[in-house]
Amino acid sequence: MKLTAEGLQKALLQTADQIEQQKDELTDLDREIGDGDHGINMSRGFQAVKKELQNKESFEDLGELSKLVGMTLIKTVGGASGPLFGTVFVKFAAKWNGKDAVEGDELYNGFKEAVDGIAARGKSQAGQKTMLDVWVPFTEALKSDEPLETVIEKALGDTKELKATKGRASYFGDASKGVQDPGALSSSFLLRQFAEVLNG
Ligand code: ADP
Ligand code: MG
Ligand code: MG
Repeated sequence: MKLTAEGLQKALLQTADQIEQQKDELTDLDREIGDGDHGINMSRGFQAVKKELQNKESFEDLGELSKLVGMTLIKTVGGASGPLFGTVFVKFAAKWNGKDAVEGDELYNGFKEAVDGIAARGKSQAGQKTMLDVWVPFTEALKSDEPLETVIEKALGDTKELKATKGRASYFGDASKGVQDPGALSSSFLLRQFAEVLNG
């Protein structure tokens, strides 16, 4: 498994398109256990990322690319999820500065730093029905032989059944059980694209 700057760029463009296609689904979930803006927030952010990527033909440095993406998401997404998704890429940038490709421990360490960054920023941990419930298993799976797609599907299924104890969804208490967490779903779009380019 290897992540190149070209692969990351491709994964981001595909994610931007998928978010457009499933924007209403993300917003509907957030209407059920939040404030009904997750699809709008993510669309705004990823369309801005798409524009930035299209302004530049190619990136050779994962750090430079990740930093641009992180800053763009922080500036444009808003809500709770903006700084959290932004942090992922800012942490990638810190770990992968000057590298055109990463694999093995270097790949894992970037994701681990990103996941720890979400947890620190959100004062959250896995098990609280947030995006972390998808990011954490995905990251650990980078060290195993399990197919990443399978891990993502299982994590999504498990997250859906949890009771939210963090973020806006926690106000819904037991009623949050059985409703998918919008940030877990949008994270799965991005992580599935990562899986695809990693397996590529
Ligand atoms: P807001 O809740 O401010 O309207 P969004 O609707 O864009 O922001 O994002 C909500 C998503 O953000 C949730 O579905 C959840 O996955 C994630 N989230 C919210 N708070 C936290 C947190 N403290 N830690 C991790 N993820 C969180
Ligand atoms: Mg919301
Ligand atoms: Mg909001």
